[in-house]
Amino acid sequence: MKVVKFGGSSLATGGQVEKVYQIVRSDPERKIVVVSAPGKRYSDDIKVTDLLISCAEEYLKGEEAQDVFEQIIDRYKSIAKELDLSNDIIQQITDDLLTLLNGDKTRRASFIEAVKASGEDNNAKLVAACFRHKGLEAHYVSPKEAGLLVSNDPGHAQVLPESYARLYELRKKSGIIVFPGFFGYNEAGDVVTFSRSGSDITGSILANGVKADLYENFTDVDAVCTVNPNIVDHPKEIRELTYREMRELSYGGFSVFHDEALIPAFRAGIPVNVKNTNNPEAPGTKIVNKREHKHGPVVGIASDEGFCSIYVSKYLMNREIGFGRKLLRILEEFGLSYEHIPSGIDDLTVILRQNQMDKQMEKSIVQRIIDDLDADEVKIQHDLALIMLVGEGMRQNIGTAAKASTALAEANINIEMINQGSSEVSMMFGVKESVEKKAVQALYKAFFSEVLV
Ligand code: ASP
Repeated sequence: MKVVKFGGSSLATGGQVEKVYQIVRSDPERKIVVVSAPGKRYSDDIKVTDLLISCAEEYLKGEEAQDVFEQIIDRYKSIAKELDLSNDIIQQITDDLLTLLNGDKTRRASFIEAVKASGEDNNAKLVAACFRHKGLEAHYVSPKEAGLLVSNDPGHAQVLPESYARLYELRKKSGIIVFPGFFGYNEAGDVVTFSRSGSDITGSILANGVKADLYENFTDVDAVCTVNPNIVDHPKEIRELTYREMRELSYGGFSVFHDEALIPAFRAGIPVNVKNTNNPEAPGTKIVNKREHKHGPVVGIASDEGFCSIYVSKYLMNREIGFGRKLLRILEEFGLSYEHIPSGIDDLTVILRQNQMDKQMEKSIVQRIIDDLDADEVKIQHDLALIMLVGEGMRQNIGTAAKASTALAEANINIEMINQGSSEVSMMFGVKESVEKKAVQALYKAFFSEVLV
């Protein structure tokens, strides 16, 4: 049995839903279909989820929001029209949205959550209606009915473990199940959403719950690329990578998957296949537990910007018990989370996301570190990019760091910092944001120009 998830762009128009139907129909193992809300049809289009959020906010202000309401309904209408569906389904969606918008507004967060999640909920009803219209046995199943229970963190829900056993029961249902992504219900019975792009998370939870053989995640690219295509033209595709490699690449800025999305599938050891709705014949990228390392030590290169570093040095720091704890304590008091801490004998650098601090906070932190820790030098460096070279094959391979630093040196790039965890899944280079692209291109050339994928 396969769980198949389709993202917003795969469901943005009637033509796209038609492709989804053909994909589902072509493989009888595709039993559970998780859907997003209709996404963008073109680059400056607005996703239905964003329209719903604006609509909910307008209603909370006591405004009618007729315009945005109509835009939302029109999105469903145009899909239904293209697919030749009867008006009943549109009437049902309109009634549902009006009921939500005219419902209880005393708990603002719950109100927004329910309206926001209706994008996927109504789309699941629409897709199920389309499948039935075309002669497939298909049923919309609500997360409530299926027992998808989540924590009460609006916009950041986490699945509750007891959900899995209940979801297993879905195996018994006949026909195709069309399930809305992006939300579950808390114990009080209210809708709570996952983080944005959270339909990926739903798919992964369902794959775990029903113990699927495969979780297919359909999107609008043929495969995950070895590097950002905006930095390197036509980069090579990744055929296979491990969950851990994917996790490192997502951390480093690959936006294929939501960070949390892979956890449930990974826990149940279910392979994930990223595929293209617009080109379903392409093999896509498989994410698995273990793989062979046929194509060299590095599987992908990710990069992300917007980091800064706090450099602290103090003579004999290595002998001072509790120095690191005290430093991190200061950061904790300022409510900051850190990313990495490369260290030397008498110095330590804390890398953080820059947008957490303003100039005033930076000044106060520097002063606190000098006063409380008696540091010799404290410096903040801004506008850093982190480049992650990712690949489990590095463990068996000698010379990866040498090859990377040579490539950077030849491109005349100064490495501000290097960090390699003992897991050896990734190697991280800190460079100035201004040379980020050049650095990634140099590394790509060094590691991929001879790889045949
Ligand atoms: N529709 C939601 C969003 O735009 C969730 C998703 O598409 O996965 O974030």
